[in-house]
Amino acid sequence: MLKFVVVGCGHSATRYMSRFFTQLGIPCGHEDIFSRAGILENEKLVGDASWRAMPYLDKFEGIVFHQVRHPLPVISSLIWLGKNRGLDEWKAHVDVDCPVEIAAMRIYTRWNRMCEQGNPYFRYQIENITPELIFAFCLVIGMPRSLEDIKFLIEKMPQKINYHNKKIIPWESLPECDEKAELVKLSRRYKYNPEIFEEKKRKYQWRHTCGHIHVDEYPPDSCPKCNNQGKWMIINWY
Ligand SMILES: [Zn+2]
Repeated sequence: MLKFVVVGCGHSATRYMSRFFTQLGIPCGHEDIFSRAGILENEKLVGDASWRAMPYLDKFEGIVFHQVRHPLPVISSLIWLGKNRGLDEWKAHVDVDCPVEIAAMRIYTRWNRMCEQGNPYFRYQIENITPELIFAFCLVIGMPRSLEDIKFLIEKMPQKINYHNKKIIPWESLPECDEKAELVKLSRRYKYNPEIFEEKKRKYQWRHTCGHIHVDEYPPDSCPKCNNQGKWMIINWY
């Protein structure tokens, strides 16, 4: 039986936590149990990190780690998704039949609010993960890890994982509406100033499937050296 779930509103970097726990020897899936296809079995996993777990939280008996992220990158990501692939995946729980900017704000506030359940329940900002916090999480899970191992891993793992959204939209570009007012309230409760998003800038070394290397914060769409369209992988960071 799953001991814990990491949940959030989608585009909240849950993949990062699944990798993090797994690297610590606490096998944590990423949408492997609470998957696109419904609930799947996997006896090897101790936890699952998935925004899709939200509708099942009321019956979930393990620990709920509610991961929140600053609204601007999340909403920017959701707007990108809405324009490119649609937001149908949320529509069973959120009314997304409206302009994409409003739908994105609704998803952030409503989904996060619905994630606020569980016993025990912990909420934290992904941007402010500390070794002490992870240390406490491991204890609660019942798989204690040393502070040193955790510190080492935090320094080694780049946080920028959900990078397909390359631009963070400015706060002013979101239409003034009830959804925006709700978003302000919830963000403040989560200790964010929704109007300002400051990224910790990092340089990454990217390797393209063509073999070429590119160093920058984000990778270009295609390889600038050979124009190949393949994919990028992070191989190092500074
Ligand atoms: Zn190339």
